[in-house]
Amino acid sequence: MAVHVPAGWFVVAERALYNGRDRVDTTRGCRQWTGATDDGGYGMLCLKDHRDPTVTQWKTYRVHRLVFILAIRQADIPRWIDVSHLCHNRLCFQLSHLNLEPRKINRERTKCNRDRQCRHHVGYPDCLL
Ligand SMILES: [Zn+2]
Ligand SMILES: [Zn+2]
Repeated sequence: MAVHVPAGWFVVAERALYNGRDRVDTTRGCRQWTGATDDGGYGMLCLKDHRDPTVTQWKTYRVHRLVFILAIRQADIPRWIDVSHLCHNRLCFQLSHLNLEPRKINRERTKCNRDRQCRHHVGYPDCLL
């Protein structure tokens, strides 16, 4: 069942995400997160949890997943769906560099990055290498 998210939450989230502290790399087109990061090297952002009507709870989002949450205007992305970085830059949150896909495809991309060559992914976009 779809979770209702107040429209105002998306506005607040967008403001927090595109706060002018990010940098766009003009050579690769990556939008580089310059805020907090987690242990895995992914951009991290704390927002008030829209599921809590009293708004006392905060929730930590990975920035690259939050971009998609905002793009599709949903409460969350199911855990079993990965948001892959086509550019292999974990700090990037450029929507066109991200893709929703199964973990299997994301794992294939790890090999592409290691070999610095995309071996193509049937039904999914190529890596940006
Ligand atoms: Zn990128
Ligand atoms: Zn690839």
